[in-house]
Amino acid sequence: MSQLRLDPLTGRWVVISLDRGERPQALAHRALPVEADPARPCPFCPGHEESTPPALETYGPEGNWLVRVVPNLYPAFSGNEHMVVDHLGPVFTQAPASGIHEVLVLSPEHASTWADLSDSQAGLVMAAIRDRVAEHASVPGLRYSQAIVNSGREAGASIEHPHGQLLAMSFVPREISDEQAGFARFEGSCLLCTTIEAEEASPGMRTIAADEHAVVLCPFWSATAYEMLIIPRDHDAHLHRAAPAALAAVGRALRTALAALRQQLGDTAYNVVFHAAPFRSEAEFHWHVHIIPKVTTQAGFELGTGVPINICPPEEAAADLRVGIGVAV
Ligand SMILES: [Zn+2]
Ligand SMILES: [Zn+2]
Ligand SMILES: [Zn+2]
Repeated sequence: MSQLRLDPLTGRWVVISLDRGERPQALAHRALPVEADPARPCPFCPGHEESTPPALETYGPEGNWLVRVVPNLYPAFSGNEHMVVDHLGPVFTQAPASGIHEVLVLSPEHASTWADLSDSQAGLVMAAIRDRVAEHASVPGLRYSQAIVNSGREAGASIEHPHGQLLAMSFVPREISDEQAGFARFEGSCLLCTTIEAEEASPGMRTIAADEHAVVLCPFWSATAYEMLIIPRDHDAHLHRAAPAALAAVGRALRTALAALRQQLGDTAYNVVFHAAPFRSEAEFHWHVHIIPKVTTQAGFELGTGVPINICPPEEAAADLRVGIGVAV
């Protein structure tokens, strides 16, 4: 079980995980490579399906799954208690961490990553994310679902086998409400549609790849080195309502971007973060995907101020990644 506690200094909800099983040991072993214990068979490989809870959904031919969705054994969010905020005193505010936490196994191949997925496999993974988010959106009381992929220990992955996670919760997290505020502040049609137009007006600057459905770029405002943003051209607030062609294109764009990153920087840990509007929100939003490579560590200044210092201008990162695409293709 977990619990939400409000940080009254920042107004952010914090998830306090009360039973993550073996996890405390992991804190002492942060420096170890992913899967330091080779004696434990990989729970996500075909043939080991019994080592996870039964699948919620599988994709692919009968008996030969290609993508598999299972409940997370140590859920950060679980149960369906209402979001009732409990004031335990003037500064202690708590709520149940209700919601859903699922694992999405991206491929039966243990040694592959999203950078290795075929077009059809990348499309299947995106369809699986859409289906799960649509399912979460239909659950009363849930407001937002966060899809992520962590790759590499520095990015928080504890199992090497390529997988993502879906976490559905009963509140709108700060990062999303901040981005919603950004869309609302923008005095134009749509902040990200305008970003695509502005970048395409200066080709060879920060755009890395583009096709008729999606664009990959290093944002002008990149906070970290080699940060990338993938924007579908269709203006849709909700990933789970996106057209199949847009989803497939974003899946391919992710593959292209991550392959270029690996080509130029070697095996780098990274986080992939999918952002869409809260489920029943009608406010302006345009779903998109962030790729955040873990090439530098946040130091005291960044943590103290929330002001990132990026030592690699996005124009240089984009030029380098375009070379990577040329080599990787
Ligand atoms: Zn495996
Ligand atoms: Zn838009
Ligand atoms: Zn975002």
